Amino acid sequence: MKSDIIIVGAGASGLMSAIAAARQFLKEGKSACRKPEILILERMEKPGKKILATGNGRCNYTNRVMDTSCYHSAEPRLIGQVLGRFGYEAALDFFSDLGIYPKDRDGYIYPASNQAAAVLDVLLMEIRRLGVKLLTGKNVEKIRKIKDGFEVVTSGQERYTAKKVILAGGGRAYPKLGSDGSCYDLARQLGLSMTRVVPALTGLYAREKFFKSVSGVRADGCIHIYACGQTAPVQLAMNRGEVQLTDYGVSGIPAFQVSRYVSKAIDQKKKVSGSLDFMPDMDKSRLFLFLTERAHVRPDKTADEFLIGMFHQKLCRLFNQLAGLNGSQTVGQLNKKQLGALAEVIKNLTFQIERTGGFDNAQVCAGGVDGRLLSEYLEVRKIPGLYIAGELVDVDGICGGYNLQWAWSSGYVAGTHAGKELV
Ligand SMILES: Cc1cc2nc3c(=O)[nH]c(=O)nc-3n(C[C@H](O)[C@H](O)[C@H](O)COP(=O)(O)OP(=O)(O)OC[C@H]3O[C@@H](n4cnc5c(N)ncnc54)[C@H](O)[C@@H]3O)c2cc1C
Repeated sequence: MKSDIIIVGAGASGLMSAIAAARQFLKEGKSACRKPEILILERMEKPGKKILATGNGRCNYTNRVMDTSCYHSAEPRLIGQVLGRFGYEAALDFFSDLGIYPKDRDGYIYPASNQAAAVLDVLLMEIRRLGVKLLTGKNVEKIRKIKDGFEVVTSGQERYTAKKVILAGGGRAYPKLGSDGSCYDLARQLGLSMTRVVPALTGLYAREKFFKSVSGVRADGCIHIYACGQTAPVQLAMNRGEVQLTDYGVSGIPAFQVSRYVSKAIDQKKKVSGSLDFMPDMDKSRLFLFLTERAHVRPDKTADEFLIGMFHQKLCRLFNQLAGLNGSQTVGQLNKKQLGALAEVIKNLTFQIERTGGFDNAQVCAGGVDGRLLSEYLEVRKIPGLYIAGELVDVDGICGGYNLQWAWSSGYVAGTHAGKELV
């Protein structure tokens, strides 16, 4: 059987592209309307496994503050073009129409039911309503351009043909949820070049053992990332928010946001270090004066007691240890040098980064199919009829609903264009 469109991958972008394509055939007043033959091939036994894991099971499916500056790509033009066709409002409307009542938490949008399963459910309901065929357990291994379309071959040597193909198989982040990087191979088979792919939105693994003593602590702070070469360290990135300290290093949204820069630098064999600033609202000299005053007010407190009320107790002990203070010493006895050392540690807790959480623990990949190969409709310029959508494209967003928005937007744009051309 020859399909109109084959979509590889039943993830966020694949399901969206199937819906967008199928809807083109339903438009009123068009004589060409007929039942579309749209087929999704998914390698896992169930579709949309990653959607279920998003937002800690609640699915942060978009963000009220939608701007191209929240994304990274070697071809930023593409992001604006795609979001311009299907952005935040369009995503809200699309999901509202399907039944998802949105809940806005400081701009982060979730389904009011707090269930990622609701998002997947409504997508699958719409797929069924539109008559899209979804086959699971079908790992696509080869795609070949043939006359009038494409031949798609699965691991079981089953052959399918279609006039158009949308590659929506994701990257290699969190492979146990389905996206194992095999779509990069498919893209390469088709002659597409890729920008370097590295893990993004993941934790940072530090060399220092002291992190074990503060594991589980969450604190407001600023993380700075530096690449160290022969010259002075160069700042690569910084982010502020609630930092989560773990036994291996640093996690939480600020660490996730900077992790793509760490991954890239490590990939380029650079040495990477980090610095945590636990008092970002005061500069070091102001903090020094503040600590001096605080010690003056209660000189009888021990060093271990001194910072209680400002930081978690585990952090207070770590600061003292790194500043070389004896915890039982009274603060009235601390000299300027010791208070200065304490201010330095609080403002600049440095660590060496050995690695990131890697692809296994990354939420997304940075890098992918080079956006410069794609038209504004995400069609491969030199292979008409072949589209690339979702994380497979070299576009990665920051934390906060931006990556799913890219999946919805790119799936919508590719699916709409592919469908429209066949009606
Ligand atoms: C734990 C976690 C939490 C996240 N939370 C959020 C969040 O709250 N908000 C947000 O915006 N983003 C979040 N993300 C990122 C977001 O989930 C992804 O950016 C998005 O799902 C990418 O969509 P996609 O369709 O491109 O790829 P995927 O969702 O990965 O879907 C690709 C599909 O293709 C299938 N496939 C792959 N190769 C083949 C093949 N060869 N043959 C057949 N099928 C194939 C896969 O099995 C998979 O089902 C999170 C990611 C993770 C891992």
